Amino acid sequence: MANMELLCNGKIENIKDNLNNPKFRFLEHDVTIFKNIKCNYIFHLACPASPVHYQKDPVKTISTNVAGTLNILELAKSNKSPVLFTSTSEVYGDPEMSPQKEDYWGRVNPIGIRSCYDEGKRCAETLCFDFHRQYNLEIKVVRIFNTYGTKMSINDGRVVSNFIIQALRNLPITVYGNGKHTRSLCYVSDLIGGLIRISKLNKNFTGPINLGQNQEITMLELARKIINLTKSKSKIEFHKLPENDPKQRNPDLQIAINSINWKPEINLDDGLKKTIKYFKELI
Ligand code: UDP
Repeated sequence: MANMELLCNGKIENIKDNLNNPKFRFLEHDVTIFKNIKCNYIFHLACPASPVHYQKDPVKTISTNVAGTLNILELAKSNKSPVLFTSTSEVYGDPEMSPQKEDYWGRVNPIGIRSCYDEGKRCAETLCFDFHRQYNLEIKVVRIFNTYGTKMSINDGRVVSNFIIQALRNLPITVYGNGKHTRSLCYVSDLIGGLIRISKLNKNFTGPINLGQNQEITMLELARKIINLTKSKSKIEFHKLPENDPKQRNPDLQIAINSINWKPEINLDDGLKKTIKYFKELI
């Protein structure tokens, strides 16, 4: 059994229902250190995704994405196992086009405070495709857009959990910049359903493929929506915009629609209501 304190982001409580399942084994390990285990399919999701967390130890973040992914790909190669790698919409950086299509190469600052994550994931994608071309390894590269939902941590730091917790506590809602930045927010169960479908596609499908919600909303609208849904007394407070914060995020979902017949089913209001209920019980 793992030492709980070692988990860099997640919580052991989130998988407590599985721990008694004899077919489930939890092994805590740092992907930057190679470990040889037997496997027949790898879902590689390792790396904190919240800017607050991945910027806390940027060197660790980039090595998780680069050295960690290299280790995972070597492991997959020796096991002849497919790998599904979760990349990110951050590979598009601050995009000049919207919605973002998979063939858009992006606009990323290579030396900014988000680069450890953005460039780390971009390099990890390169590694996946080079292992595919050079060693014929089966890969699926999935670009995940903003996702939220139950089981998030109180200190996650991303927008949905911040706003909900602030609203439930009647504290000021911290909108960064002028609030005109947009995101498209996908509920977690939709996202997981998409990942499972992609994992079952035939070996010729490599991606990259976008997964996420394509209903764009400004952060100011989101703040107002959450205040209404929680019937909060919170007021909106404007704060400094973090460096290199992308202005817009909206996935083009055509490849997902065509290849896995997938579209998110949970709309923002319903997803927020489930998440509000979860945080209400948690705090
Ligand atoms: N944001 C905000 N207030 C917060 C947290 C985030 O206004 O308390 C904004 C942030 O500046 C960005 C958007 O919400 O424009 C989404 O931020 P998040 O950290 O959730 O994810 P990102 O897409 O930036 O990785």
